[in-house]
Amino acid sequence: MNHDESFIKRCIELGDEAAEAGDFPFGSVVVLDGKIVSEGRNELLAKNQIYRHAEMLALTETQRKLSKEELARCVIYSNVEPCPMCAFAIQELNIRRVVFGLRSPIMGGFSKWEILQDEGLNKTFPNTFGKTPEITPDVLKGEVIEGWKRWSGEKWKRLLAKGVFK
Ligand SMILES: [Zn+2]
Repeated sequence: MNHDESFIKRCIELGDEAAEAGDFPFGSVVVLDGKIVSEGRNELLAKNQIYRHAEMLALTETQRKLSKEELARCVIYSNVEPCPMCAFAIQELNIRRVVFGLRSPIMGGFSKWEILQDEGLNKTFPNTFGKTPEITPDVLKGEVIEGWKRWSGEKWKRLLAKGVFK
């Protein structure tokens, strides 16, 4: 198992924890120089707050801990492609690389709305947005799917049939 896979594996565990707590099985970690800086799991239903996506929680904690220069060296991992809200935050914090398991053609900030690859932001505000992040999709896809099935085999089947994840 390489580094990317081991961090996605941690995202899957965080997704399992979210599911056990009655939430959606999303998990995310932010990594600097091969070490986890912060972790997040979906708390949308538990806290009834729209911004409590796994990535937003991991990113806000990272922002508190690190300098701007360190943020620009960070990699964010998620079991599922980040949504537009989280994708914009990733761009604004100038995160270097984004790694995920499943693609999200209906809700994603890369496959659907093209926020992560939008260079307009970066060209207009280079001091804030830096460069667009490098994207690595499809990491441990099969194991991510197993995590969603642990949450609910029935709901997973419906999501798959609607083309929500790929
Ligand atoms: Zn999100």
